Amino acid sequence: MIQVGVNGFGTIGKRVADAVAVQPEMTVIGVAKTKPNFEAHTAGERGYDMYAAIPERAPLFAEAGIDIDGPVDELVAAADIMIDCTPSGIGAENRSLYHSYDTPAIFQGGESPDIAPVSFNARANYSAARGADAARVVSCNTTGLSRVIAPLNTAYGVERVTATLVRRGGDPSQHSRGPINDILPNPIEIPSHHARDVQTIFEDLDIHTMGLKVPATLMHVHALNIRLKSDVTAAHVRQLLKDESRIYIIPPGLGIDGAGELKDFAHDAGRPRGDLWENCVWGESIATRGRELYLYQAIHQESDVIPENVDAIRALLDMTDGTTSIERTNQTLGVGIGGTPTGLGESIQDPYPSASEWADQTHEFPPPDSLAYSLLREEGEWAYTSQTQPEWLIRERLPV
Ligand code: NAD
Repeated sequence: MIQVGVNGFGTIGKRVADAVAVQPEMTVIGVAKTKPNFEAHTAGERGYDMYAAIPERAPLFAEAGIDIDGPVDELVAAADIMIDCTPSGIGAENRSLYHSYDTPAIFQGGESPDIAPVSFNARANYSAARGADAARVVSCNTTGLSRVIAPLNTAYGVERVTATLVRRGGDPSQHSRGPINDILPNPIEIPSHHARDVQTIFEDLDIHTMGLKVPATLMHVHALNIRLKSDVTAAHVRQLLKDESRIYIIPPGLGIDGAGELKDFAHDAGRPRGDLWENCVWGESIATRGRELYLYQAIHQESDVIPENVDAIRALLDMTDGTTSIERTNQTLGVGIGGTPTGLGESIQDPYPSASEWADQTHEFPPPDSLAYSLLREEGEWAYTSQTQPEWLIRERLPV
């Protein structure tokens, strides 16, 4: 059993601890906190041993009725790996602590990239982190962008990315952040720092980002324009992204028109804390014009990096390859929303079946006026040129 310690038990830390706790080969040996707030009680209820991040504050925990198992140093000494989930900049202060005990450490996206030899996204560069003594799981926005760029780059080649990031002003618990009633270009400088962050994963990528902040706490929304290296159809991109386990293609017909409905959807589906670990891409927004691809996606800032942290543990400790780790994390957490989302029964039909799924499921050709027909036709035409779909599909199913 891999002994995992979590330093900082806030928005990210508590989710990371719960995700680690359900991994078959890992156990949470303790979490470190600075103050005995409600989250400290949550940790106790979850059965996590509590360590004092600031030893002089240990008496405050005793006064609140919370047992302290020792100072954070003892947690670091006992752990096989530490996940630092402290606020931006504190991770850098903690780095020497982990180093002094030779304990590998995972840092979060708020830290500067030079805190670790590798910035990490499981889909894009798992193998680069294998055996490293530290890694930085990139920010929520960079994680969301990397998950889209990686498969597009492999399938078609990416020439240039232009991304407008409409960012939530703060998390639900961050009452001191804003704006309350404003729309801020943020940062005002263009390109925003997000482009540089994505380049920590895709070194030579031509990427330009612009950021805004809005009075919302729910999610970020990205408006993407990606110039690919080959002509594609929207249907083919949709299928490519649909096959990605950490991307959910929102089907039309569910009435999910914004981040609020997405969050309700996650709560209805029984997701812990209403988390959406997946990029949520509006299927109808995927549009192409020659080599230009456009889409909208929503990113749940509090949770998309959680499966990445679990994978980063396996990478640093060189426990398995990326594909196996991603599959195991997905399966244990329940990542991946299919055509019949958890909690919503079997009644929802996937309006974006691949051509072969249509053939397997229906054994019929869709009616000519249906959305499925146009998608199938588009996909079939692409298949004809790319020859990635069986020839019978074109011959027997597509009366062009
Ligand atoms: P948070 O403020 O919700 O949680 C941080 C926790 O660390 C708090 O419980 C705080 O009391 C505790 N803490 C403060 N100083 C500490 C110390 N010296 N030792 C131990 N614990 C300490 O912050 P968060 O949102 O969880 O962010 C953590 C990291 O994750 C940051 O680098 C952030 O940039 C990154 N991140 C945040 C989000 C997000 O949307 N919240 C998304 C992706 C990445």
